[in-house]
Amino acid sequence: MKILVINCGSSSLKYQAFNMENEDVLAKGVVERIGIEGSKLKHEPHNGDETEIEKDVSDHKEAFKLVVDALTNEQHGVLSSLEEIDAVGHRVVHGGEEFSESVVINDEVMSALDRCISLAPLHNPPNIYGIEAAKENVPGVTQVAVFDTAFHQSMPKKSYLYGLPYEYYEKHSIRRYGFHGTSHKYVANRAAEMLGKPLNELKLITCHLGNGASVAAIDKGESVDTSMGLTPLEGLVMGTRSGSLDPAIIKYLMDKEDLTIEEVDTILNKKSGVLGLSEVSNDFRDIEKATEDGNEKAKTALDVFYYNVRKYVGSYLATLNGADAVIFTAGLGENSPGVREAVTEDMSYAGIELDKEKNQVRGKETDVSKDNASCKVLVIPTNEELMIARETKALAK
Ligand code: ADP
Repeated sequence: MKILVINCGSSSLKYQAFNMENEDVLAKGVVERIGIEGSKLKHEPHNGDETEIEKDVSDHKEAFKLVVDALTNEQHGVLSSLEEIDAVGHRVVHGGEEFSESVVINDEVMSALDRCISLAPLHNPPNIYGIEAAKENVPGVTQVAVFDTAFHQSMPKKSYLYGLPYEYYEKHSIRRYGFHGTSHKYVANRAAEMLGKPLNELKLITCHLGNGASVAAIDKGESVDTSMGLTPLEGLVMGTRSGSLDPAIIKYLMDKEDLTIEEVDTILNKKSGVLGLSEVSNDFRDIEKATEDGNEKAKTALDVFYYNVRKYVGSYLATLNGADAVIFTAGLGENSPGVREAVTEDMSYAGIELDKEKNQVRGKETDVSKDNASCKVLVIPTNEELMIARETKALAK
């Protein structure tokens, strides 16, 4: 069975084609600058070099056409024809309360996706364009939606309700949804395999630390709390997002700096986080380097970030009454020994004891805790595309 996984952003379309007999990636790539001058496709087949195709594409439908042409091209294609694609899996950011698992897309699902747009006005429309583009370009093929929010729908009310008048939850669905669900679920499953125990006997804390970052508390395979909220802005200080702050700061900042609410929204989403604090970069590699070079603001930004993650791990230890493992994943979690050391130091009260030598690892699935630690520290590279392909395969069968 061959499955195409699609992840659409406002001006990009990322894809990976899988052979699900052995879960091999046949090809992957991205169309960038959709609707903007200078659009191009970067295509990387498993059996050849990366190629770039420059071609103006005005929308996601044209971008999708470019992708299927590349996949079936004589020189750098990996499929003999489109008939080989058995199903298409789509990443969808926000499924609201409508979806607690992945679904086969039909007219009813499309209407529900439309209803979710107001919850994620920037993210969901491009996801919907991607689905429409796939329907047009590979008609008759099963399409599956896999939601970032679905895994967290198991959270109890005490985790997902905000301290607002209840009517706003009832009228406008304002509550915590959480994101990165596909990644939290993938690493939780891998952790169970690594620990050699059934997932439904484990208490796990998963730290997805990339440019966007979130932590989740997972009890018996179910998400019971997570740091992101109604939108991905809540929770940890991130690359460019502020994370949680005193809500009164918004009005105070508007008054002091004479800003509109839209301007404050841009500051909180794009100019804050470790970028805003360090005044160096939103890329942790640059900030780690600047810290080594003695830049004080860069060091402070890292300290704030590390302390943020620590606080969430600590509060989820309380939520779960201890944990069997703390898992680090995504760009920073997989690649930075520094973040893992700072987050887990002095946590022996919870059975967490990092082995500093084992921890000198990047991008590799490993147990980096001391042999006798009762709570393991695991590095598990995430693979959201593979997870989407697996869910798609299960539903398309
Ligand atoms: P997203 O998908 O949210 O864009 P990623 O999971 O790709 O994020 O992670 C990107 C972040 O991971 C960047 O801030 C980058 O600096 C960090 N990162 C990637 N590789 C390394 C590394 N070797 N050392 C430290 N940080 C890294």
